[in-house]
Amino acid sequence: MNVPNSQSLLTARLVKAIRSICGPGVVPLHEPRFAGEEWNYLKDCLDSTFVSSVGQYVDRFEAELAQYTGAKYAVAVTNGTAALHAALLLAGVRPNDEVLMPSLTFVATANAVSYCSATPHFADSTEQTLGLDPSALREYLISIAEQRDGQCINIATGRVIRAMVPMHAFGHPVEIEALLAVARDFNIALVEDAAESLGSTISGQHTGTFGLLGTLSFNGNKTITTGGGGAILTNNADLARRAKHLTMTAKLPHRWNYMHDEIGYNYRMPNLNAALGCAQLRQLPGFIEAKRRLFDRYNAALVEISGARLFKEPPRCRSNYWLQTLLLDEAVAGARDEILAATNDAGLMTRPAWELMHRLAPYRNCPRMGLAVAESLERRLINLPSSAQLGLDRAA
Ligand SMILES: *Cc1c(COP(=O)(O)O)cnc(C)c1O
Repeated sequence: MNVPNSQSLLTARLVKAIRSICGPGVVPLHEPRFAGEEWNYLKDCLDSTFVSSVGQYVDRFEAELAQYTGAKYAVAVTNGTAALHAALLLAGVRPNDEVLMPSLTFVATANAVSYCSATPHFADSTEQTLGLDPSALREYLISIAEQRDGQCINIATGRVIRAMVPMHAFGHPVEIEALLAVARDFNIALVEDAAESLGSTISGQHTGTFGLLGTLSFNGNKTITTGGGGAILTNNADLARRAKHLTMTAKLPHRWNYMHDEIGYNYRMPNLNAALGCAQLRQLPGFIEAKRRLFDRYNAALVEISGARLFKEPPRCRSNYWLQTLLLDEAVAGARDEILAATNDAGLMTRPAWELMHRLAPYRNCPRMGLAVAESLERRLINLPSSAQLGLDRAA
């Protein structure tokens, strides 16, 4: 007779616990919810005939985003990757520059840097936030960089380290104040990739509003969706004006002339998408409440299971809990794929972290520091079904 080993026991317990929270049937990782004014706003938008890059919903969505996040300005664009691309250009990233970022991120962060003909430079994460580790980054920069004419130079490559892009992984805020201090001390611009953290705050201040610029995503799997969409946040009036200009083909305002004063981008969010966004934004506080309740439910079900724990928001931070994150102990990290298989076989759509950027073919040869923590997190991390629906009080 086979005695079940500790890994398959752990797997069976996790499947049971996750199922007890998610209820019956196939449970997606994250699905959108359209329970508000979506149909009304979309119909109104169609009736107006302003479905494209001009219209009242784009202006309204931007104003409401600014109000919700506390950013002075919000510029709505076609997706989060475009938002990052434009934000990096506005932060001064030029061909041949280097841009610091976590290796534990979605590929969009690295791709946006490549679109600027710059090179990603990968830094390690901390287990406390799942994002960039400020003290390890500081130590690293002291050893590999020097200041020349007010610029941070990578001594080994001779290139300028122009910017850093912390990313609030799965909605959990990074240690932003300490990263801002590193950025300031080394003359590096800070752009926040807040694609996953709409609604997440640090000491009450919204993620994406700490750096020079911040970016959001409204892709279908994010906390709220516009179908596809993104936004650039900034408190700087000049940067906001330039963000709008750059993302609207750099056209100079005129009643009939087509005059463009630089190479711009067609990144403006269409009015149709913004109409959906306005409807979604009204439900955002409810979504976040539901997702935080879902954390409590998972946590209660998982707390008894040794070998795994649910990632909890860092101190002083409020997470939107976009994706619930299970971390296995290092001793049972070998069970990750078995748990992924068993949960997905059972219709519970879990998934591992992204393949680390420094292991992807296009980014394999990029500069990087030691990435031991990111590599450990990647071995042990599993995202659980996280839709807002799952945290709503089940009526009938
Ligand atoms: C979703 C996401 C983006 C942007 O994605 P789009 O699909 O282009 O909107 C960027 N960075 C991270 C970390 C993301 O998760």
